[in-house]
Amino acid sequence: MRFLEGVIRVSTKSAFEVVDITGQVETWVETNNLENGILLTYIPHTTAALAVNENERGLKEDIINFLKELTKPEKGWKHNLVDVNAHAHLANIIVGNDRVIPIAKGKPALGTWQRILLIELEGPRERAVKLIYIGE
Ligand code: ZN
Repeated sequence: MRFLEGVIRVSTKSAFEVVDITGQVETWVETNNLENGILLTYIPHTTAALAVNENERGLKEDIINFLKELTKPEKGWKHNLVDVNAHAHLANIIVGNDRVIPIAKGKPALGTWQRILLIELEGPRERAVKLIYIGE
């Protein structure tokens, strides 16, 4: 049994952005010679989120627009009285902070069109993605 923790750092460039971090996760898995197990990817943030989905230019814009429609950044949320980012917290709750990725034969076992996506909701910022592996 093997247990390993790590972290990936991501610098986002915009207020809203979808960043594909699959390559960084693959590099971490390969560098540490992880073979078969499960990998928890987790962000310790309340205004960014993690998803697994397709990295396609139009879809990335759709994801941002969809979350804006749902969380209405311009609405007079109560949290905006102390910190003008209620929409970012609400979008985080919808999408979530974590994804579990199966690791098989030394690689993330993702579907053909699946990528690990960090969704920035209040950038630009420095973000951390924690990685916790349990497996062989
Ligand atoms: Zn806030």
